[in-house]
Amino acid sequence: VLENVDILIENSTIRAIGKNLEGEPVIDCSARVVLPGLINCHTHLGMTTLRGVSDDKELKEWLTDVQEREAHFTDATIQEGNYLGIAEALRSGTTTIVDTFFREELAGNVAEELGIRFYGAPGILNNHPLADTSLTLPTSSGRITYCFGPHAIYTTDESTLKAVRKAATEQKALIMIHLSETRKERADCKRERGLLPVEYLESIGFLGRDVLLVHCTWLTKRELDMIKQHNAKVVHCPESNMKLAGGSCMPVQEMLERGITVALGTDGVVSNNNLDMFREMHVAALLHKHHYWDPTVTPAQQILDMATVNGAKALGRTDIGRIHPEMKADIITLDLNDLNLQPHDATRIVSHLIYAASGMNVAEVIIDGTLIIKEKVFV
Ligand SMILES: [Zn+2]
Repeated sequence: VLENVDILIENSTIRAIGKNLEGEPVIDCSARVVLPGLINCHTHLGMTTLRGVSDDKELKEWLTDVQEREAHFTDATIQEGNYLGIAEALRSGTTTIVDTFFREELAGNVAEELGIRFYGAPGILNNHPLADTSLTLPTSSGRITYCFGPHAIYTTDESTLKAVRKAATEQKALIMIHLSETRKERADCKRERGLLPVEYLESIGFLGRDVLLVHCTWLTKRELDMIKQHNAKVVHCPESNMKLAGGSCMPVQEMLERGITVALGTDGVVSNNNLDMFREMHVAALLHKHHYWDPTVTPAQQILDMATVNGAKALGRTDIGRIHPEMKADIITLDLNDLNLQPHDATRIVSHLIYAASGMNVAEVIIDGTLIIKEKVFV
């Protein structure tokens, strides 16, 4: 933690960090903590309008209810969700968001307009009226990147998964898939294929460094070894897992011991019900201490890393996730005058970020060098 330093931004890049740098001061950070913008590695923005409509239900009943509502979605409904979701993400300090839903180019257009860095994966399912199985991605450019989003192993068949794998390799695109979220998914996979979910994906040549495995709450040590061996990435969504009571806690210690990259995501607001990554970090830190009966597990810095550097690593990026010269200027500030962040000093600022802060403490948001939020108001 550096104190009383300036950050010089030129165009979209951080040029220098140091004392008394030359340049026109744009933001007075004397009462701010400045940190890299947060990276939310899993959302479903297009369904943000469904916040609060289907709570306190068993997962299967919940999914059926949500899918019935989604079946009535129009482009206008999806756009309303995209605007609301991206605005909420920005306001609470997310500068990069990874999304998967239907008509994903609509979300990409909103992301372009509002200025967030965006990864969008059109949802691929075999039997869904809104799903697109063409494997032709919309065109990526600038801050907007498209990738493949096969929904899960129980909604996407083997030939589709193999086709996705091939297309992703050819097009050098990432793949994200929900995996091993519930005990039922594991039991069904084992019964139908004689293999557990990660074993199944490995057997069809699906795993790779470009694959984001979302949830991973139920895994054996053998599966963890396979994830590490193929350098696939894990996206942890603790609030969604707890709310839907998937019944297991993601084995974060066993993952980190193996050197598996663990990033953090909120999941959609129908199972969270917000896109605030400060809340997600808070819950992630507490969940594993509680689960392992060990308060030394998932210390504050490790959780902050999940939402910043690890998120960047999961996306294969070396230019975001840190504040460092020559990195992209994706930066957020929090207002240290806010009561829940006092008292403060350098030794406890990381603690405050994880255990005391919320997204509503975010004061400024800069993405690609552009000031998007100033003094808690959208520019
Ligand atoms: Zn999800």
